[in-house]
Amino acid sequence: MQLFSIFGDPVSHSRSPLMHNSVFKNCNYNACYTRTHLEDGSRLKETFFELGLSGANVTVPHKEAAFNACDEVRGFAKTVGVVNTLINENGKLIGYNTDADGFMYAIKEFQEIKKILILGAGGTAKALASRFLQEHIEVNVINRSEGRLNYFENIGCTTYTWQTFLQTDYDLVVNTTSAGLKDEELPAPLDIINTILNNTSYVADAIYGKLTPFLKEAKKRNLIYKDGADMLLGQGVLANELFVNKTLAKEKIKNAMQKSFLL
Ligand code: NDP
Repeated sequence: MQLFSIFGDPVSHSRSPLMHNSVFKNCNYNACYTRTHLEDGSRLKETFFELGLSGANVTVPHKEAAFNACDEVRGFAKTVGVVNTLINENGKLIGYNTDADGFMYAIKEFQEIKKILILGAGGTAKALASRFLQEHIEVNVINRSEGRLNYFENIGCTTYTWQTFLQTDYDLVVNTTSAGLKDEELPAPLDIINTILNNTSYVADAIYGKLTPFLKEAKKRNLIYKDGADMLLGQGVLANELFVNKTLAKEKIKNAMQKSFLL
């Protein structure tokens, strides 16, 4: 039996085991998916091989460490330097990124997106910003601290800290910070959140499984919003295709994975 896992800190909230096990069970694929709490990202590679894994997902805060741990990185992950899916290919660690395409899948019903504001500047923000730029969408990024913004300036985004933020209109505002994941924090001070939400058409949050304080503010204003569940499904289907080495049809994976959302 093949073994897969998700690495993260925290990791107990992750629905990935339910999602992937639902595919393995419903499609009679001989594999099992577990979760691994990893505090030190530099131990990712040795832990992966110690556990004898065939593949894994990586979540907060280890996606950049995962990129550095790989023997080879393929596809979009190479552009962004962020890996969320690992495959054991004959003892070599191969890295992919399925988050960005998962998010594009999630927002496909949002119309006419030309200008986006991303809250946060971590691994998820990098993946989304690069993917939006590929679609010729104007990307703005606001982050709590300045250090991580250089990357975004270099690829052509307009960047702000909380202190330098200047308001304009956006079509979509996306929270990619972990504020609200395990706490009740907003991703920026309330006055900034108020201004942002008063000037956008759509709102999205990468966090799933709860109405974050950020989405509560969007709901109060009757804005069209979505949490990270569809993004989770989108990235999960693409990751599972890699896990099973494309031996299962994408539609079959998606249907089986969706069943886990009812659990
Ligand atoms: P990273 O650790 O790489 O980045 C976290 C970002 O959040 C940083 O910009 C950090 O700012 C900011 N941040 C953290 N705490 C706060 C706070 N209290 N207030 C304001 N900003 C804060 O994380 P990832 O990009 O890997 O993940 C981010 C979130 O997206 C997580 O909640 C994760 O669960 C979710 N996610 C969901 C997915 C899905 O499928 N739905 C897929 C991928 C991620 P600073 O630079 O100042 O530290």
